[in-house]
Amino acid sequence: MIIADCHLHSDFSSDSEAPMEQMIEKAIALGLKKICLTDHIDYDYPPRGGYDFMFDIDEYINKLNELKKRYQNQIMILTGIELGLQPHLNDQINSLVNAYPFDFIIGSSHIVDHLDPYFPEYWMDKSPEEGIRKYYQTIIDNCKAIDGFHVYGHIDYIIRYIPKKYEASFQYSYYDFKEQLDHVLKTIIDSGKGIEVNTSGYKYGFSHPHPETKILKRYRELGGELITIGSDAHKPEHLCYDFELVPELLKELGFRYYAIFHQGKPIYEKL
Ligand SMILES: [Zn+2]
Ligand SMILES: [Zn+2]
Repeated sequence: MIIADCHLHSDFSSDSEAPMEQMIEKAIALGLKKICLTDHIDYDYPPRGGYDFMFDIDEYINKLNELKKRYQNQIMILTGIELGLQPHLNDQINSLVNAYPFDFIIGSSHIVDHLDPYFPEYWMDKSPEEGIRKYYQTIIDNCKAIDGFHVYGHIDYIIRYIPKKYEASFQYSYYDFKEQLDHVLKTIIDSGKGIEVNTSGYKYGFSHPHPETKILKRYRELGGELITIGSDAHKPEHLCYDFELVPELLKELGFRYYAIFHQGKPIYEKL
């Protein structure tokens, strides 16, 4: 059994209404030994839809410290964060991660050219292929510009949002982006970072987590070993989403261990 869910949101995130207590109590009910809350900070998020993906970090850390004590006999709570990366944010991100004692930092691409691919505007002036290539390029650019994170989040998040109108004319295939994805994976590995297995892919109706199995396999072939596992749950019922599928999948691909970060260092657990 996977003993920790390391990608979770609470109502500190603009897009979640779940109090931290509810997420923690669900984790205890599921028998987890550890969880890591990773609420969203996206500096310079374009104003859209009423979301800003910002919160008061002091309040966040204080609340987590209070809950760590309250639940200390039932579960270990780790302090994480999911940072939306953009190449110009390096100084801001360094100031943040140096000022607070984060156990674990997920770096994610949520914004490409000041637009979130979640919104239809992103796709208005691009073909699906261009939209996808631009997204993957942000991962390379962010890894080169920013150091303050441990694993790259949901690498193929972009495939969730390819507009339905292209269904007949465009089929996404890993193989059409293989060379670029090799570049992405090598850049992550060379930067000393890991990747996460984000099981929200199953929740979005794919037959795989993010990133898909072919990318995970390639990461391993290229020498990547550092992986964390998280559901990206924004509500209690999605904690550990389809986690039971993960150990076998990863073992088939040649992974033996997954990591849980404590004080910025990976602790390895057997799959
Ligand atoms: Zn994310
Ligand atoms: Zn997330």
